[in-house]
Order: sequence, then C-alpha cells, then structure tokens
Amino acid sequence: MAEYTAPLRDMRFVLEHLVDLESVAALPSFEHVDPDAVYSVLEENARFMEDLVAPLNRPGDLQGSVRNDDGSVTTPEGFVAAYKAYVDAGWGGVAFPQEYGGGGFPWLVGIAMQEILTSANMAFSMCPLLNQGAIDMLLHHASEELRETYVPKMVTGEWTGTMNLTEPQAGSDVGALSTKAVLQDDGTYRITGTKIFISFGEHDMSENIIHLVLARVPGAPPGTKGISCFIVPKLLLDADGNPGERNDVTCVSIEHKMGIKASPTCVLSYGEQGEGAVGFLIGEENAGMRYMFTMMNNARLSVGLEGLSLSERAFQMAVDYAKERKQGRAPGAPAGEQSSIIDHPDIRRMLLTMKSSIEALRGITYANAAAMDRAKHHPDEATRASCTELVDFLTPVSKGWGTDLGVELTSLAIQVFGGMGYIEETGVAQHFRDARIAPIYEGTNGIQAMDLVGRKLPMRAGGAVADYLGYIEATDAQLAEAGDELASIRAALADGLTALRTATDWLLANGLSDPLDALAGATPYLRLFSVVTGGWTMALQALAATTALVDAAPADKDLYEGKVLTARFFCEQILPQAAALVPAVTATNRDLAAATF
Ligand SMILES: Cc1cc2nc3c(=O)[nH]c(=O)nc-3n(C[C@H](O)[C@H](O)[C@H](O)COP(=O)(O)OP(=O)(O)OC[C@H]3O[C@@H](n4cnc5c(N)ncnc54)[C@H](O)[C@@H]3O)c2cc1C
Repeated sequence: MAEYTAPLRDMRFVLEHLVDLESVAALPSFEHVDPDAVYSVLEENARFMEDLVAPLNRPGDLQGSVRNDDGSVTTPEGFVAAYKAYVDAGWGGVAFPQEYGGGGFPWLVGIAMQEILTSANMAFSMCPLLNQGAIDMLLHHASEELRETYVPKMVTGEWTGTMNLTEPQAGSDVGALSTKAVLQDDGTYRITGTKIFISFGEHDMSENIIHLVLARVPGAPPGTKGISCFIVPKLLLDADGNPGERNDVTCVSIEHKMGIKASPTCVLSYGEQGEGAVGFLIGEENAGMRYMFTMMNNARLSVGLEGLSLSERAFQMAVDYAKERKQGRAPGAPAGEQSSIIDHPDIRRMLLTMKSSIEALRGITYANAAAMDRAKHHPDEATRASCTELVDFLTPVSKGWGTDLGVELTSLAIQVFGGMGYIEETGVAQHFRDARIAPIYEGTNGIQAMDLVGRKLPMRAGGAVADYLGYIEATDAQLAEAGDELASIRAALADGLTALRTATDWLLANGLSDPLDALAGATPYLRLFSVVTGGWTMALQALAATTALVDAAPADKDLYEGKVLTARFFCEQILPQAAALVPAVTATNRDLAAATF
C-alpha cells in the first residue's frame, strides 16, 4: 500500500474549474506565473512529499522528538535530512516575494502545496507552517532593516520562525500575557518570561531559530492594547549577519502529547541566565496584537487545511483497507463467498461521506486562498474590498469546520477499519490523534464561532453577510439552467440557504442585542454557515463538472461524473443538516445559564 498519493486530479479540478487559477495567475505581480507550470510544480512537489516526507510520518509518531539534558531537541530519525532536502529544493519559498528570494507565486499555489505537505506528514509540516506565519508577520510589519536581516534566510528555510503567544495564564486570553521587554540604551530590548506550547521552539533541523515573541514593555496598557512583538533569535547574528553567540532562551521541557508527537511543543524560558534575552522590536510598541491580526487569516486557513489534509490521507487508507478486508456477504454477492467490506452500503456511506466532505473542504480552502490573492492584488478597488469580505467569512469556516471535520472524518476512517483501526499498528489512528489539536490551536473553534457572530455579522450593519448570502442565491439561476440532472442539488441548496437566512436574521435582529444569546448560538451557527457554504461549493463544482463534461476527453469523464455524484450526495444527504441547526442557534442562553453542573 502506498503511504500517500497526492490527489493531483482533484486538486487540479478545483484550481482549474472552481477557483480559476488562470485568472489568479493573471493578477498584477504574478505575470511570471504560468498555470501549466503550476501543475508541473505540484507534480514535482507531490513526488518529493510522497517519496521523502510521507514515509517519515509513522516512524516520527513512534519515535517523537526528544529533549536532551543540555536543552537541545532531537527530532525523529530522517527529519533533518528530509528538511535539508526540502530547503535545497526551495519548497518553502514558492509563495513568498521574489525580492526576498521566494518564487512570487500566488498564495493559492502555496496552499495547494501545503495540502500535500500536511497530508504527507503533519508533524513535519508544522515547522514550515510556523516559519511561514513568522515571515508573513515580518513582511507586513518589520522595518526594512529587520526584514533584510532575517527574511531571506527564513524564506529559504535555513532559519525557521516560531510564534510565541501562549503563557500558562494566557491561552485564548492573549491579553493576559506577562512576558516583559525592557528597552536598552542600544535600542534593543531584554526579554524575560516563560512561554508554553511553542511549536518547534527548539529543534535540530535549521541553522537558527527566529522566535517572534509577544511581550509587554514597562507601563504598557493592560490587555491586548499593551502587547508588543519582538524578534528574539536563538543565535544572535555576528557583524557579518551569521548566527553566532547563543541568546538567553532555553527549552526547559517539551510536552508529551496525544498526537503530532514528532513536532516538539516547547516550554521556552527567556532570560534564565541573566538580565534577559536580546530582542528587537517589530514596528511600534503596543501594536503587537494589531500586527497579529494581519497574519491571522493566513495562519487560520493553514490550520483549517490540516483538517482537509489528514482527512484525505485517512480516506486513502480507508479505501485501500475496505477493498482488501473481507467480511460478510453483501446483498447480491455469490453465495458462500465473503465480500470485500467496500461492497457493503454502510461502508460506502462512510467513504462517500469522507470523499464528499473532503471535496467541499478543498473547494472552500482553495477559494479562501484565491480570495486572499484577489483581495491583495486585484487592480480594481471594489473587487479587492469584496474579496476581503469573502476572506472574512470563509476563514472561520476553513478553520472551524475544516478542523472539526478533520476529527470527524479521521474518526470515520477508523470506523471503516473496525477493530484494526483502533490498533496503532495499522497507522490510521495516528491521523485521528494528530487531527485533534487543530480545533484547539490558532484560536479554538469556539473563538472562531464568536468571531463569525460577533465580528463578521455586524460588518456594514449586516450588509456584508447579506452580500455573502446573495452570492449563494445567485447560484440558483445557474442550477436552474442545468436542468433535471442538478435539480436535487438546487432544491437542497435553496433549503439550506433558507435555514441560514433564518438563523442570520435572528442573530442580527435579536442575538446581537443580547450578546449572551448570540454567544450561546455561535457554534451551531458556524456549523450551519459552514454546511451551507459546503453545499454551495459542491453545487458550483457540480456546475463546473457538468460544463466540463461536454467536451471532456474520454479519460477525464470519470472525474467529472464523479464530481457530480459527490456533489449530489453532499447536497442530498449532508446539507439538510442545516435546517436542523436553526433551533440551536435561536434557542437563546436561557437553559445554558440556568443549568447546574
Ligand atoms: C500542540 C500544541 C501546539 C501549540 N503551538 C503553539 C505555538 O506554536 N505558539 C503559541 O503561542 N501557542 C501554541 N499553542 C497554544 C494554543 O494556541 C492554545 O492552547 C490555545 O490558544 C488555547 O489556549 P488554552 O490551551 O489556554 O485554552 P483556554 O484558553 O484555557 O480554553 C479552554 C476552553 O475554554 C474556551 N474559552 C476560552 N476563552 C473563552 C471565551 N472568552 N469564550 C468562550 N469560550 C472560551 C476555549 O474555546 C476552550 O474550549 C499550542 C498548543 C498545543 C497543544
């Protein structure tokens, strides 16, 4: 059984027919990007990840990263060599600006590559992922001098970045952090404090580690208004810009976790040895939280993608197993013969639930990335503004629904395996364990739901969400034109939209006047919003596939016919959940407040 095969046909279908890679590649600043070249890059990337990174997934889980007595951390066997090959191939820089040594490709292409990397090995992918977030922050907010000093080596991946927000008393409540930063005469700061849960906070894969640390300067206002952001390199740079003297940051321990065991999750102590680690301020004092917000959408999309990637890999394993495993006799099978379990309707239901949900998620996450590219690079201001709003709505869906489905679908894969799924040797349980962190970090899914209800619905006094619902409604006319073939999709989407409108109108009319009622309904609302967005995406994929079928080459027909089938399954059998969620959105806080525990 192959470890993992990148689903390049499915990815290309979404890139070509749903999110229109060609028009993204035609945006200013991507003139050098040819869509055909993108598909070749993805093929090469897939080969690399399949051959070098995917085979390290299971051994990495068994071995885990280890902290040594001197505070250094050793990653599992093979990680250092694979990471070096990753850096040599330049994979990490493809979607970063050319002026810093990157490939200057759209974020959309970076996201497609990230899907493959994360499916291949989520724990390994965390290192480039955190680095990407740190680069993003520096590109947006660091001075030119800091950018030139740090970004090029981070773009190549020779140095890796980390994000240091969390402290024991400051998790979701980032504003409660207490790490200190004190200005020195030379313009640097001395950082003291303890950060917990820092992914790849210490490791042996790169020459240097560039920590981005949130801290407070003396006299800073309380809460999120008093947070500043600093670069704290593990190794300070010498006069030539090369890593030299060790900075005062120590990995005190690493966590023993349920999953992603190869990704070292570190407790970092700043200033253990003396008056503090040397830090360099990014931008202005007390503006750190604002800076975090500008990179949050990218980071949340990447974490949402983890749900998609792990589901895809678990799905591939489940299909292979279901073909091999024989149990019982499926109705109609020859007497006296055991059938492969893939012939049983209940197994096919689980596989199709996985497949159609994965396709919905891929559509949403790629559309999210394409909207980010358009929001940043489109020449027309009004288009940039509408794409920015689209990103605002799609991001909590990608992150919240994507990671919830990551847990649910990897769990379904275990169910397909039966008892063998619960046994670690088959390897499918790892994906479920790995997936479980994604609804927790990068803003818990509860926080995502609060963001959708509390921040996004009130945008333009409800005008932004009205536009979003209008986009979904506009699909109805296209579905009507497509005729009988897509009639059930059309009917299900219309019903889903009615449910979403009812819940949205209720929240706008009642919920927002009583924040407790709105917050009580936020998580079911995010689910409802997501299921309908999933149905919309699948309807668009069905429309695109129907059009593509007209002139399809014989070899492509199965792909397009399969897309119509999965869209129909999703819309007929999953999308109707939308209506059932309305009562939970509109229930008010009454019982939650009255309950005793
Ligand atoms: C493996 C791993 C890797 C990580 N990597 C990093 C990293 O690289 N850098 C970093 O800085 N951090 C990292 N984290 C930390 C992670 O971001 C936090 O765990 C996360 O933000 C949640 O914080 P918490 O664990 O303190 O949970 P809490 O904030 O205590 O939340 C507990 C529960 O309460 C809910 N809750 C909290 N506040 C509210 C509210 N106001 N309203 C409603 N519900 C609320 C939450 O949704 C959650 O369900 C990592 C964590 C893990 C486990």
